[in-house]
Amino acid sequence: MARDKIRILYLDDEENNLTSFKAGFRRDYKIFTTTTASEAVKILTDNEIHLVISDQKMPSLSGVEFFELIIPDFPDPIRMLLTGYADIEAVIDAINKGQVFRYIAKPWNEQELKITIENAYEVYLNRKEIKDKTEKLGKAYEELEKFVYSASHDLRAPLVSILGVVKLARAESPGSSGIQYLEMIEKSVNKLDAFVQNIINYYQNLKKDEILTPVKWDVLLHETIENHKYFEGADKINLTSSVNQPGEFISDELRIKIVLNNLVSNAIKYSDFQKGESTVSVKINCGPHKTLIEVQDNGIGIPEENISRLFEMFYRSSDSDQGSGIGLYIVKEAIEKLGGSIDVESSLGEGSKFQVEIPNKA
Ligand code: ADP
Repeated sequence: MARDKIRILYLDDEENNLTSFKAGFRRDYKIFTTTTASEAVKILTDNEIHLVISDQKMPSLSGVEFFELIIPDFPDPIRMLLTGYADIEAVIDAINKGQVFRYIAKPWNEQELKITIENAYEVYLNRKEIKDKTEKLGKAYEELEKFVYSASHDLRAPLVSILGVVKLARAESPGSSGIQYLEMIEKSVNKLDAFVQNIINYYQNLKKDEILTPVKWDVLLHETIENHKYFEGADKINLTSSVNQPGEFISDELRIKIVLNNLVSNAIKYSDFQKGESTVSVKINCGPHKTLIEVQDNGIGIPEENISRLFEMFYRSSDSDQGSGIGLYIVKEAIEKLGGSIDVESSLGEGSKFQVEIPNKA
């Protein structure tokens, strides 16, 4: 593909410099010259300029001042300063501040200047490509987020309807041979609903700003336990809880709910009904600086070698068809936003203990 002719704007108060620049480079590049800053701004406005060269020593403003003037409106052209050795400190300062890409020593050597111009244009093209790609990527990411979020929202409504109809059918035909199929449908729909709910949580955690309010731990825990009343297997579990909150605690409730809900549902999901009694205990201890949450179960436990991978997206430690492996990933993300930490202890066949620390943002 034929390359665009490089477009260069050159500002200098000395006419004969402009003339000799034009004479030297006119054949290779499209050149715009001027002796005034206002005319230079007009040229920048009317043309897509790739490189701007300015003399440093001019009577009304310096080259560096001219660059400072144009950077807000014309950040893309590559800026080069033309200067004698006497101004070297101003040049170094301008390069360090990112105002100038290169300086060109006066009088210039035509061959060297040509290489500098070619290099600067390469940089211009690379920066433009990165800028275009970043813009496209940002747009694609935003669209994907909107798509997943609305798809998850729109999926939940029909799922809830299916569950309602299945419940009705079960109630109306007790003892019928089809009931086991209805139960299978209900189980699968519940699993799908939990997954969709997790995707919504993921986006809420990612997108929603932190909202700090006083946290009433007993209310939050009660709500979490209520949410799990009809959770599969919950009726066979001895769930105990305790809350100790002597003072005020400020944090972000939405993210705390995400954490509590996931830890409690896992403790129930991964219980071991071979054991005489399945237990889940949730303890919340709220102190002046942080709250400790402990969710402990005597369920199936986790093999030691899998513990370090539990918080990876879609990682599942067992072959059971219970989960999708996204819950603990979201828990970790939410805890990061809360400024807290999480720790796991578990032994296979004996049970697991998840401990979370959340700082008080009072
Ligand atoms: P999901 O439960 O949807 O599969 P999670 O990210 O919540 O996903 O958990 C990842 C994996 O960690 C689970 O698949 C399970 O194997 C294991 N796990 C999580 N919590 C427990 C627990 N309380 N007891 C035993 N295993 C657990």
